[in-house]
Amino acid sequence: MDKVTKSEQEWQAELDEETYRVTRLKGTERPYTGKYLDHNEQGQYVCVCCGSQLFNSTQKFDSHCGWPSFDQSIEGSVEYHKDLTLGMVRVEITCAKCDAHLGHIFEDGPTETGNRYCVNSVSLTFDDGSK
Ligand SMILES: [Zn+2]
Repeated sequence: MDKVTKSEQEWQAELDEETYRVTRLKGTERPYTGKYLDHNEQGQYVCVCCGSQLFNSTQKFDSHCGWPSFDQSIEGSVEYHKDLTLGMVRVEITCAKCDAHLGHIFEDGPTETGNRYCVNSVSLTFDDGSK
């Protein structure tokens, strides 16, 4: 996949403060505040930074963890990185196209995939196919 590369200054100019903090500085939105937490429309969730398609609404489930959760991603759309911050061993997920921080993946999902992609709402925008 061709990468989208922009300088930190360019991203900062394009994104609002919270989106920049989460996607480029690997921040986390406060739980139960995200706009896509209880969002159940049919469509696709795309990267807020570059528009790459990341998740289908059919992959979303209600995890009660405070962030939008998915049991799988659109193939090839997400990259995985070992994250040892905060004294935990976690796997960070980023957009494969622009390296935006999305959230983390955990292996405690309730569906057959066993995966829970725990994603910040601010890292996403929603495309219902009407555009
Ligand atoms: Zn992206």
